[in-house]
Amino acid sequence: MDLSRYDLDRLAVATVASHTALQILRGAKRYGFKTIAVAGRREAAEFYRQFPFIDEVWEADFSNFRKAAEKLVETNAVLIPHGSYVEYVGWRQALEAPVPTLGCRELLSWEADQHKKMELLRLAGIPTPRTYTSPEEVDGPVIVKLFGAKGGRGYFLARDREELAKRIAAVKEPHIIQEYVFGVPAYYHYFASPVYGRVEVFGADIRYESNVDGRTFGWVEPTFVVVGNLPVVLRESLLPTIWRYGAQFAKAVKEAVGCEMAGPYCLESIIKDDMSISVFEFSGRIVAGTNIYMGYGSPYSVLYFERPIDMGERIAHEIREAAKQGKLDKLFT
Ligand code: AMP
Repeated sequence: MDLSRYDLDRLAVATVASHTALQILRGAKRYGFKTIAVAGRREAAEFYRQFPFIDEVWEADFSNFRKAAEKLVETNAVLIPHGSYVEYVGWRQALEAPVPTLGCRELLSWEADQHKKMELLRLAGIPTPRTYTSPEEVDGPVIVKLFGAKGGRGYFLARDREELAKRIAAVKEPHIIQEYVFGVPAYYHYFASPVYGRVEVFGADIRYESNVDGRTFGWVEPTFVVVGNLPVVLRESLLPTIWRYGAQFAKAVKEAVGCEMAGPYCLESIIKDDMSISVFEFSGRIVAGTNIYMGYGSPYSVLYFERPIDMGERIAHEIREAAKQGKLDKLFT
């Protein structure tokens, strides 16, 4: 995206008022940027207006995001995408929004398709759960995921081939049938830095999911609706592999998608009892799990910066350094 007409001494950082907006804008303000929250609802706008680190709160119609995007450009603002932004404006509008957007935007179209998503992980040489094309191939428990299912709603489990065959008959939407991997969930936060030419492993979280982590006594079907996130510190012996998978992912994005990974992203996995990792999902932008470190920094950030910083501050740091070094075109698409 062309930043040639931007005044780099007066850059504004904008994001949609939800998800990780508080962390992103707080971080941006600490690095001296003007900050803008774009809200889709009056209630959200009122909530975000109470925070002094947010300079402007706009209300916008997300069904026509182009208008807000054009106004952001007039305001000398760059946009930090997050999960709710993609959900509210839709990935097609996000792909085309005429405003400099952090990271590899083209990844959005890969993320929207469960099969392409898994293909990219495999191209990266990262172990993934097996995928089946029909119930006949199945020889154990599976998880069925509908495309675009939010926060795990719209997924179901089947114990075996017979149960799957019965339940799948009712599914008309695009979906993927995946091996159900037994173990603990762990979600790794990365930051790809064009400024430092490296991938940083920044932290990790666990999702707190309604009917799998709730007090359900086995009386209801498991669902995976995310209601929050918990911090986790991983065994240090796992870190080299986790870091390597993150770096392999960034390399695969460059080769297969054709753009440089820049900014935060996440690999979502199950760690089995033999300590092997199976990655079932990626997010090509900041994940809400980074919010657990807002204000006091992630444990691993200390290893790179000698002081704890959160992902919002990490993003702002990168923008500031890239602006100084004339590298902003490597961060924004
Ligand atoms: P997702 O929406 O893909 O992040 O998945 C929602 C939740 O389903 C995850 O947080 C995991 O707990 C669980 N999950 C997804 N895929 C698998 C899998 N292949 N095996 C075991 N659990 C899974």
